[in-house]
Amino acid sequence: PLSKPEMGAVDGASVLAKSLKDQGIEYVYGVVGIPIIETSFALQQAGIKFIGMRNEQAAAYAAQATGFLTRTPGVCLVVSGPGVIHAIGGLANAQSNCWPMVLIGGSCDRPQEELGAFQETKQVESTRLFTKFSARPSNVERIPMYVEKAIRMATYGRPGLIRLQFLQHKNDKLFMRSFPSYFKLLTHKPGASYLDFPGDLLNTSVPEEQVEFLPKLPPPPVSVAPQDEILKAIELLKSAKNPLVIVGKGAAYARAEQNVNELIRRTSLPFLPTAMGKGVIPDDHPNCVSSARSLALQKADVILLLGARLNWMLHFGKPPRFQPDVKIIQVDIEPEEFQQSIPTTVTLLGDVNQVTGQLVEAASQKQLVYPKDTPWWKMITEKMDLNRKTVGAMMADTSVPLNYYAALSTVQKLIPKNSIIVNEGANTMDIGRTVLLNGLPRCRLDAGTYGTMGLGLGFAIAAALNCQKEGKGQRVVCVQGDSAFGFGGMEIETCSRYKLPIISVIINNSGIYGGVDKEIWDQINEGGGSELPYRLPPNTLSPQCRYEKLAEMAGGQGFFCENIEQLQSALEKAIAETEKPTIINCMINTTAQRKQQDFDWLTRAKL
Ligand code: ADP
Ligand code: MG
Repeated sequence: PLSKPEMGAVDGASVLAKSLKDQGIEYVYGVVGIPIIETSFALQQAGIKFIGMRNEQAAAYAAQATGFLTRTPGVCLVVSGPGVIHAIGGLANAQSNCWPMVLIGGSCDRPQEELGAFQETKQVESTRLFTKFSARPSNVERIPMYVEKAIRMATYGRPGLIRLQFLQHKNDKLFMRSFPSYFKLLTHKPGASYLDFPGDLLNTSVPEEQVEFLPKLPPPPVSVAPQDEILKAIELLKSAKNPLVIVGKGAAYARAEQNVNELIRRTSLPFLPTAMGKGVIPDDHPNCVSSARSLALQKADVILLLGARLNWMLHFGKPPRFQPDVKIIQVDIEPEEFQQSIPTTVTLLGDVNQVTGQLVEAASQKQLVYPKDTPWWKMITEKMDLNRKTVGAMMADTSVPLNYYAALSTVQKLIPKNSIIVNEGANTMDIGRTVLLNGLPRCRLDAGTYGTMGLGLGFAIAAALNCQKEGKGQRVVCVQGDSAFGFGGMEIETCSRYKLPIISVIINNSGIYGGVDKEIWDQINEGGGSELPYRLPPNTLSPQCRYEKLAEMAGGQGFFCENIEQLQSALEKAIAETEKPTIINCMINTTAQRKQQDFDWLTRAKL
């Protein structure tokens, strides 16, 4: 369907493609259709790899995973109306995680706007809440500028100009009260951008010399914290009885691994990674106190936060999960994150990699070394030993139907240690955090700050493409619950089409949080009757559903496992296969649970 522009002329689609290429974009994920078909061809002609996905949401997940893994935003290209609306789920997830991505949506032809055009939607407005920048290029000539700005906004900070406009309303009290939530959108951290392309804009041709293509944007500038504040932080850590370092995904994104490792090596402080901060320092490091997470959080008196927010994932920093007077030293690129839920004692505003480097230097000058023979280390070590014993017993219990710990620890034992682990599902993810370990940074992708389920295969596809490009033979292992898999399971066909040897392990308990056994299901259904399924608990899914057949359908391999031997053999075959995806459908007990927790999941802090 390519309509060729005249000699010396370029159309909107090819200007868009070239602009993306000029900005270093390598992958565009999407689902084609009117009016972006020509654009997808133009992308290929410009030397960009177009990855055709099966659902826009999965494409948006893939784009942001590329953004997190490479610091160059992944791009997602979708059709008008439903295409953009489906992708908004992905935009919201990217925004919540502070990951860069650019969504590009086709939209209806401008001459038909407001007349009820095909898939006509207010797309710029619809995406605005979930982006730092959302706009429609005014003409073909200016497309390169919009593309550059979209990428700049996704990866750089934001100027304060908009703030001044808001301040003109300062007499309006009501407005002022809603002010902070408006501010949340004006962030310095990475995020999402949206660009809107009406069909007629993509098809308009202009003389090539009228288009001003722009050079590649330099990487975002980095800033350091004031030295006074660094010294305050070191003094506070020196005075701490129960210090703790928390390594967040901001540190992973900022590629701070070298400095963070050096900080822990020099100071010997205990540390705890957040879910996607895992691997910045290897999980098996002797100072990692993940196996006593609740205790470490609850009893720490000074916490150094390296690129992690005190939101729900860290229980807002509040009692009962934290000490009421815990002192927080927070490193963040975003000043609005300080003083958020509890007071921040020392605010270290700057790039977490740079600031950690400053801390390393000051720590060695001021001889900040935390001894191993303290009551704090003793308390933590005892709790870790106890927890390991409890979990060890559950791992060793290989009775059928399997429990989570037995199944997940088998996966942990057999997969290559440098694997990228994508992990989602309720218990599958929570238990996976402690059982599936990371030795390298940015090798963990999960439901994240937004708690999104169903992003697994989208993330896995982006990760696998990145592994392919880096050529280090790293594998992607996607461990999902059966419910999480269902949200985007058809992407297994995408994995197969692009020859991505993703190992998908479905921890299948036949439902959301749990399900009913096949026998009970059959009893309920005995005698037939169409009303019977409505009597099942709403969280149930089909018992023993054969999800692995989806891999076979798409030309990959599928395994159905009910015991450890079958799971081991399936994992070995999956690892041996280097061109096709594998689904391992691992049945577990429909009522399997986490080990007894000291606190409820999402403990209601007193807010
Ligand atoms: P986690 O889920 O690991 O707790 P969050 O997403 O809550 O992590 O927090 C990550 C924080 O890291 C965000 O507040 C973000 O502003 C910050 N951040 C992102 N990039 C950088 C950077 N280069 N330097 C410092 N902080 C950063
Ligand atoms: Mg389930």
